[in-house]
Amino acid sequence: MGSTSDNKEILQKAGLRLTRQRSEVLEVFTNKKTALSQADIEKVLPPQFDRITLYRILRSFEGSGILHKVLDDSGTTRFALCGHHCSEEEHQHEHVHFKCSACEKIQCLEEVEIPQIRLPKGYVFTEAKLLVEGICKNCSESR
Ligand SMILES: [Zn+2]
Ligand SMILES: [Zn+2]
Ligand SMILES: [Zn+2]
Repeated sequence: MGSTSDNKEILQKAGLRLTRQRSEVLEVFTNKKTALSQADIEKVLPPQFDRITLYRILRSFEGSGILHKVLDDSGTTRFALCGHHCSEEEHQHEHVHFKCSACEKIQCLEEVEIPQIRLPKGYVFTEAKLLVEGICKNCSESR
């Protein structure tokens, strides 16, 4: 479970000041452990939480290596917590994202690397994003 001291450390490392709102948003991610859209987060936050503030917090978290974008095939932008190797300068994500067709949650599978992509001559590689669909561990075990 995410505690305030963990959150403080994460924000400190990212060079961001600890505010109640930042801490609240971060806590949602550390508790849920799945990729979340802005709408998902709004559902969990107190109703008075300002949507523009949330939007700004998500962008600043992304910019400072706390969150990374997870592309969903439905076109919704989601975010997930970064590993320790991410920083303001660089995100390092060579992992697969998994979408469960039963619970529709998207998770980072940090231990599953995206295989090397060989491109034809003349093409320059920048980044590969991979979304794998199936049934997650939770759902397959509760069947
Ligand atoms: Zn990252
Ligand atoms: Zn599932
Ligand atoms: Zn991820």
